[in-house]
Parts: sequence; structure tokens; C-alpha cells
Amino acid sequence: MARVFNFSAGPAMLPEEVLQQAREEMLDWHASGMCVAEMSHRGKEFVSIAEQAEADLRELLAVPDGYKVLFLQGGASSQFAMVPMNLLKGGTTADYINTGSWSKKAIAEAKRFCDLKVAASTEDTRFTRAPTQGELALNANAAYVHYTPNETIQGVEFPYVPETGDKPLAADMSSCILSRPIDISRYGVIYAGAQKNVGPAGLTIVILREDLIGQPIAGTPAMFDYKIHADAGSMYNTPPTYAWYLAGLVFQWIKRLGGLDAMAAINERKAQALYAAIDSSGLYTNPVEPACRSWMNVPFTLADPALDEIFLAEAKGAGLVTLKGHRSVGGMRASIYNAMPEEGVRALIGFMQEFEHRHG
Ligand SMILES: *Cc1c(COP(=O)(O)O)cnc(C)c1O
Repeated sequence: MARVFNFSAGPAMLPEEVLQQAREEMLDWHASGMCVAEMSHRGKEFVSIAEQAEADLRELLAVPDGYKVLFLQGGASSQFAMVPMNLLKGGTTADYINTGSWSKKAIAEAKRFCDLKVAASTEDTRFTRAPTQGELALNANAAYVHYTPNETIQGVEFPYVPETGDKPLAADMSSCILSRPIDISRYGVIYAGAQKNVGPAGLTIVILREDLIGQPIAGTPAMFDYKIHADAGSMYNTPPTYAWYLAGLVFQWIKRLGGLDAMAAINERKAQALYAAIDSSGLYTNPVEPACRSWMNVPFTLADPALDEIFLAEAKGAGLVTLKGHRSVGGMRASIYNAMPEEGVRALIGFMQEFEHRHG
């Protein structure tokens, strides 16, 4: 068996230990005689899996009292609608910070529900930085403020948490949740599609301050109402049970590593090594302001784009796959989420240096 180092932006690598454990438990989970995918979501076996996963996630993120943790479906893209549908609470406007492709999608969706204001945009500098706190033009009538702490496509990460006074802060953490410790109490709602840093596609994590629940806009479908999911313990309908279980195994894997402080130290080392290799080379360039460079998604271009296809083919031959950059940015992108081992980043750096030596 030859596993590759997969730099995909998502669905992305899962920790090998987690896949091994899932394999061992595939046919018979804990002497139940069943695969987790075959269990009733209301049976005691699955309920114990679900509760353990929530408890582990709460422990990892130190979620304070007064927050619900939901395990939903529909991806971050459904949250682009659920956030305005539930957080406007009779208001007619919200503030959105525009830092890249995912912010733009969130903005386009929220415009269906309110007359939103863009509090800051870095589009004029091609999304190569996050705005500073001083640049945020927050509007007194905004029902909430939305931002994207890590832009997966541009590789831009906020080096701070925006200060929004009494306005709830909504954050799309799809590509950075669990990459480092965060102070949950700064946020009204955090959401993340699982397929980057949590588990398989099909599961969406939502962490939500309880006082924001319960006033959806008129006509909100049941599946888009946070209260319905919160009151039902994320079992209003059949949840994505197998994805929830695998996410739970990932949470236990992070706990075994030492929790989010340990995870953050590893992620910082991986990112710094890769950016240092890019910055010290004559062939590779990353355009993002150093203070705003993502720990998770590292886009880079080659000085001669004619080398792109050769780079990708040779990398694949070396077991380093899915490095092609997003079509809107071009070049390459190495996504180095939690599950990418340091060894994978070292292998990529070694390959890049050797490639430059031959072609640079
Ligand atoms: C991948 C991604 C999304 C889209 O997630 P889906 O689960 O496919 O809807 C949204 N926001 C960010 C920051 C992402 O990285």
C-alpha cells in the first residue's frame, strides 16, 4: 500500500491513525455487530458516539457554557444562508468583511436576506492581506458582523479577531477550525464544513451562542432554523452519522497529540518551513503579506508558468498530489491542514528545492 501526501484543499487528508481505527471498527463497532453507518441515530450506540464527539470538541475548543454545538449537513454554503436567516432577528442590515473568494460567496448569499454593508474589502490589492481593525467601517445598525478568518483559496488568514463591540461576530472557519486554540467567547457563531480540518464531507459544525437562537426570519424552513436543530440535539432529521463518528475519531486523535496548543505548534512549524523555502527561492513566490499568511493553505506561483505542468507531474511521481492552485489564482496551492504530517511538508520542500535546482 502506497499512501501519498495529498495537498488537496478539501476534501483533504485524514490522519492515518484515524483511518486505521475506522478500518478496524468497520464491520463490528465495539461488539455491536454493526458498522457505525448501519446504526440507528437514536440507538444507544450511536448516541454514545455522538455525545462523546461533542464532549471532545467542547473540550478541545474550551467551549464556554451558553453555547450550542451542532452537527449539521449542507456545508458552509448552507451556513451562508442560515447565518442571516437566524441572526438578523428583525434587523435589515449586517456587516461583511470581504477578504477573498469565500467571503464573496457569503456576501452574495446574505444579500438575498438583507441590505448588507461591506465593512472592508481587500479586493483592490487582489486579496493578499486582511484589513486592519482600523480599516473596518462598522455600521451601527448591523445585526452582526461576518468574516472569513482563513481564506482557503487566497491563503490569507486574519492575524487578529475583529473587535465588534456588542455586535455578534460570525466566522466561517471551514479551513482553520481546530488548527490552533481560539477564544470562543469572542464569537456569536462559528461554522465549518468538516472536509478540510475535521473529517469527511457531509458534516457541518456550528458553534452558536444560545441567545442568538430562536428568532428566524419569517418563512425559514425547519432545516434552516438553528433552534429546531439545537432543541433536537442535531437529530431533528437523520444526521450524517458516519461523518460524525469519523470527526469524533479525529477529535480523539488531536487530544492524544496534546490538544490545540500542540496542534498549533506543529502547524506553525509546517507553515514557517514552507514559507521560508518559498521566500528563499528564486523560482517560487507567495504574494500574501507575511503577517496574514495562512497556516493551512499556501498558494505559490512558479516564475515561469510554463513549468507548472512539469512541476505537477513530477510532484505526483514523488507521491505529492493535488498541488494545482485554484483556477482563480493559478500556480500551486499546498493545503497543509492538521492531518498533513510534518514529514509531508518536508517531502514537498525537498522536492521543490530539487525541482528548482534542475529547472530554475
Ligand atoms: C470549502 C469552504 C467553503 C465551502 O464549504 P462547503 O462545505 O463545500 O459548502 C466555505 N468557506 C470556506 C472558508 C471554505 O474553505
